[in-house]
Amino acid sequence: MISEHFDAVIVGAGFAGIGAAIQFKRMGIENFVILEREDDLGGTWYVNHYPGLAVDVPTTTYSYFFEPNPNWSRLFSTGAEIKQYADDVADKYDVRRHIRFGVTVGGARWDDDAQLWRVNLADGETVDARYLVTATGFLSQPHMPDIPGIAEFDGRVIHTTAWDDSYDPTGEKIGIIGTGATAVQLIPELAEKAADLTVYQRTPIWVVPKIDFRFSERAKQLFARIPLTQRLIRVITDTIYELMVWVAVLHNRQTRGRFNIAAGDLAKMHRFATIRDKELRAKLTPDYDFGCKRPTFSNSYYRTFTKPHVHLQDSGIAKIESDGIVGNDGTKTPIDTLVLATGFDLWEANFPAIEVIGRDGRNLGKWWRETRFQAYQGVSMPHFPNFLSLASPFAFLGLNFFNTVEYQMRHMDRLFGELRRRGATTFEITEEANARYLARMTALLGDSLFTNGSCATARSYYFNPSGEPTLLRPTSTRAAIREATDFPIDDYRIV
Ligand code: NAP
Repeated sequence: MISEHFDAVIVGAGFAGIGAAIQFKRMGIENFVILEREDDLGGTWYVNHYPGLAVDVPTTTYSYFFEPNPNWSRLFSTGAEIKQYADDVADKYDVRRHIRFGVTVGGARWDDDAQLWRVNLADGETVDARYLVTATGFLSQPHMPDIPGIAEFDGRVIHTTAWDDSYDPTGEKIGIIGTGATAVQLIPELAEKAADLTVYQRTPIWVVPKIDFRFSERAKQLFARIPLTQRLIRVITDTIYELMVWVAVLHNRQTRGRFNIAAGDLAKMHRFATIRDKELRAKLTPDYDFGCKRPTFSNSYYRTFTKPHVHLQDSGIAKIESDGIVGNDGTKTPIDTLVLATGFDLWEANFPAIEVIGRDGRNLGKWWRETRFQAYQGVSMPHFPNFLSLASPFAFLGLNFFNTVEYQMRHMDRLFGELRRRGATTFEITEEANARYLARMTALLGDSLFTNGSCATARSYYFNPSGEPTLLRPTSTRAAIREATDFPIDDYRIV
């Protein structure tokens, strides 16, 4: 069977995949394809469209460095606007024509003789590429809870990643499982229309007020006419977010968790100001440190629980029957619709999202599990030549995904620039450089909230199944960008 050949294959057409595509184009590499399992681009912002969806990073900061968007309607934009931004950027940089939609990648295997990646598609076809970039995102594999009886439920079941836009909750009895960032946005929306809403909480989440406002038409015109004005606001919002991560997460030991305590106090005041019922407040109070799992911003979440038709169930779920949910406390709640705001399978299904077999048959998923989760500069692994994995351990800079995309694009720029300069075609990170990097990340984690704080009860996806906090890269954005621009090129074996 003859397969198609490309210089590069990118898996995933979300913001990371679009960024990688733009980077290839900047470097003069046009013969690449983006394989996307969905039928549209935008990744998480295409898949998610539940009511209330919005970003929890200010949009002045939540965009590519090189592509500010003067059209954001407000500080925390809606999901629909961010999807539009993805479309606009993809069109502006002529990325769309490279994308094949509805193509699921099964796996990829390095062919050492041909020095090529053989990429298998679910329909049995294969494509070949000199370079493979997986841009599969961190939150792309929905988590379906394994609750006894769930398959026997007769009503409607909706996972938040597969929202049915025609679904009208008006007058419905709804049970929702989960109280993560998604649920915090969705619960107030459902409560507006439902006749009865029961929220099944396993782990309370930290919620702080959201300071949000609309950008006036004049402000938008100003951003469009003098982009520097928007960049200045970006400097401010970037700095605030960066400082929060630096103080609360990365240097928790040095700051003795003071910021986390202060942020927790703010959430406490927010609860106190909103909810009079002491018992309800106690139920909604987390018992782990602020920041152990991603905190949320909402002005309506707590208030929703004060409505008479909204109930908080925190005794756990014993089973689901054909017409309702039975709690561990023996109470049965009849429901018409079960909403699963149960998040994503991060470590089990996403690291890696496809099977990747490198040199000498090294299987990436097995290797990560048999050794440790690791990736040099959050992109490269030894024994995986010509492969960049953008959704890797130690890749995500925390809070703003676009910072991660920016440093990864710069890493590509330096690496592929060097290949071109040397007239080389193959790169692979050395074992030594990778080991050095892993040791450095591990040491840096020693100062972090994840090591010094009280995170054991958070059930946070920042921690892998072995209990190591290997999702976030424990450096500042500045350091990540600097290192992407000047990492020792000899860390790679280039031939
Ligand atoms: P999540 O944070 O992983 O939350 C999933 C929720 O489901 C948790 O409360 C979890 O409880 C619960 N759950 C899962 N399985 C369960 C089970 N078997 N029984 C009972 N409860 C169960 O997922 P998410 O809310 O979708 O958010 C994921 C991430 O997406 C966020 O952290 C954020 O980074 C991003 N996000 C961002 C925005 C935004 O930008 N505004 C919006 C939505 C999501 P436990 O905590 O006990 O495991």
